[in-house]
Amino acid sequence: MSTVTENAALLPASLREDFPILTNNVLGGQPLVFLDNAASTQRPRQVIDALSQVYERDYANVHRGIHTLSERSTEQFELAREKVRAFINAEHAHEVIFTQGTTASINLVARSWGETNLKAGDEVLTTVMEHHSNLVPWQQVCQRTGAVLRHVPLTEDGRLDMAAFDLLLSEKTKLVAVVSVSNTLGTVNPIDEIVKKSHDAGALVLVDAAQSVPHTTTDVRHWDADFMAFSGHKMLGPSGVGILYGKEALLDEMPPFLGGGSMINEVRLDGFTPAALPAKFEAGTPPITPAIGMSAAIDYLNRVGLEAIHQHEQILVEQAHAALSQIDGLQILGPAPEHRAGLVSFAFDRIHAHEFAQVLNDRYGVAVRAGHHCTQPLHKLLGIAASTRASFYLYNRPEDVDRLVEGIAEVQQMFAPKGRKRRRKPQ
Ligand code: PLP
Repeated sequence: MSTVTENAALLPASLREDFPILTNNVLGGQPLVFLDNAASTQRPRQVIDALSQVYERDYANVHRGIHTLSERSTEQFELAREKVRAFINAEHAHEVIFTQGTTASINLVARSWGETNLKAGDEVLTTVMEHHSNLVPWQQVCQRTGAVLRHVPLTEDGRLDMAAFDLLLSEKTKLVAVVSVSNTLGTVNPIDEIVKKSHDAGALVLVDAAQSVPHTTTDVRHWDADFMAFSGHKMLGPSGVGILYGKEALLDEMPPFLGGGSMINEVRLDGFTPAALPAKFEAGTPPITPAIGMSAAIDYLNRVGLEAIHQHEQILVEQAHAALSQIDGLQILGPAPEHRAGLVSFAFDRIHAHEFAQVLNDRYGVAVRAGHHCTQPLHKLLGIAASTRASFYLYNRPEDVDRLVEGIAEVQQMFAPKGRKRRRKPQ
């Protein structure tokens, strides 16, 4: 049987030495196996050093002071913007807005673009696999404007039902808000096709790229996405920084979302004129050091290579999928490896996800996520309250998957009554 990873290669294990947290922790008597990367990743020494250097040598507020430290900070902050631009292949650096994270970026679009452009009878099309951050802001803006929120359903195997998408997309659709990789199912969505069809129907597209930008090459111009959101902390960078990419023409037309310092050209007692891009959307002191740390993370990722990272994760997820498929009573959520990115969520009919996560942590040193992963509607649709998720990144190894699988087998034995074996059909 052919696999997606036939010609793929693993990354060198020596790369783990760049991540002090992986060697500094022993859990349950075992070295840490960190498989919670979809929630947040770890930082290499190079990023930690970049952060220390800013604080020890260069830190001051940006864009304001006529002094050396402010100039240094400003230069590094704007260099970070340019790094992000190149990383996603945006046309202009001023199309890159620094926010607090994916959630903040999506809220910015919902409040600024949504409240200006949506009216009663319009439709926003999203999907049932969205993270709450690409769902709740649209629920809120639809409530305020009278627009209607619609959801693309799933196929049997956990992919987007594109036939249903075609039927739901209409001249009423003003925006399609879709995740590039589901943080629960691992499904990789056909963004090219979605953008093309949406544009043909006259709708804009916002891509929640929180789970794809860190793991594979992104070319926002090739996608032709109108907006894209992602977070620094999911790509080896610090928390507290994220990106909103928007096409220049759209961002230019949108009103500022937050008001305050930095986002103005001029303030009078009776009003203000907003600054040009990108400052218009960066009110107050921006995430200066986190942005510089994100820039160091991008350097690191570029050095390792996004294609190599992608291949590495595909090998791990294929290994995990094959091993987990052999376990009785375990339901893998989402599609076959060829349609998924580097994560796998699963559920058991008799054992709660929290019990799994606890035993894996306490006895095997394996850190996984348990719960609804901010996709409650999806879990409800799948008929489960919670799931356990293992998500991979460049520092994970095949031995980590082995440990996970060993741990699961033990948990299952601990909790399952003897003599009863049931296998449920994966959804
Ligand atoms: N979208 C997806 C697909 C995610 O996985 C996450 C985080 O888990 C988010 C959005 C929210 O990201 P943040 O918490 O960094 O704003």
